[in-house]
Amino acid sequence: DNAQPKKPSWIRVKAPGGKGYADTHKIMRENNLVTVCEEAGCPNVGECWSAGHATMMIMGEICTRGCTFCNIATGRPDALDVFEPGRVAHAVEKLGLNHVVITSVDRDDLEDGGAEHFAQTVRAVRHRSPSTTIEILTPDFLKCDPSVLEVVVEAKPDVFNHNLETVPGLYPEVRPGARYFHSLRLLQRVKELDPSIFTKSGIMVGLGEQEQQVRQVMDDMRAADIDFLTIGQYLQPTPKHHRVDRFVTPEEFAAYEKAAYGKGFLMVSATPLTRSSYHAGDDFARLREA
Ligand code: SF4
Ligand code: SF4
Repeated sequence: DNAQPKKPSWIRVKAPGGKGYADTHKIMRENNLVTVCEEAGCPNVGECWSAGHATMMIMGEICTRGCTFCNIATGRPDALDVFEPGRVAHAVEKLGLNHVVITSVDRDDLEDGGAEHFAQTVRAVRHRSPSTTIEILTPDFLKCDPSVLEVVVEAKPDVFNHNLETVPGLYPEVRPGARYFHSLRLLQRVKELDPSIFTKSGIMVGLGEQEQQVRQVMDDMRAADIDFLTIGQYLQPTPKHHRVDRFVTPEEFAAYEKAAYGKGFLMVSATPLTRSSYHAGDDFARLREA
């Protein structure tokens, strides 16, 4: 039986609306930009956009991978748009963002996995909005020469985020085409190359993992010197996607958060509606004040 557990009361989503939302939507459309907020059907879009915070997706809307939790189309992507870094920078400036998250589809079709395009986008945003903190959420560059990572690191994003997504035992069914230890090593390497960059990763829960496995992932992340952690409830984007195994309770999330701080993460967000980019800007501001 493939019945899904019923959505509990704590997964409540506010309908998008308000002026901030409308303005953000308009600026994104004018600049022909794609947001993860919309593509992934993120439950926080109303809240984030009203606060002028958004996650932009570069390098197209078609991904070369087919993760079973993800609502982005799989196929052969279009050629890179050389004007995209400039359009992202323009939108960030117009929106007056304090913190921007820039992410992308996976581009196994490109020799450098899109590393240079990422770097150009970071530099373009930095140039036009020098006080905006920049977080990048990157693919794993699995098929590339390891040196491509240096290109991205040299652009000096403030936060380098790459999600492990789930526990290693679930990779074959959740993240086929990715390798758990490769992703961990990628983040560790970022820290080795430039210790001034904060590293960040996240997982979804409710996919069938065990609590002990989640704690093991935290240990693995700390062993790779990862600074920030996000844990959120997996929600099924469409009935064709990976099923929700269960809804993790707010109390369990609180216990994960406490355990994570105990293991030495600098910043942890673990709630049912936590997403990789949720409140990322606020957290970062808090850390800078600390
Ligand atoms: Fe967008 Fe991230 Fe906010 Fe979701 S949590 S609406 S993806 S910025
Ligand atoms: Fe989605 Fe990223 Fe997986 Fe592509 S690599 S299918 S964008 S989660």
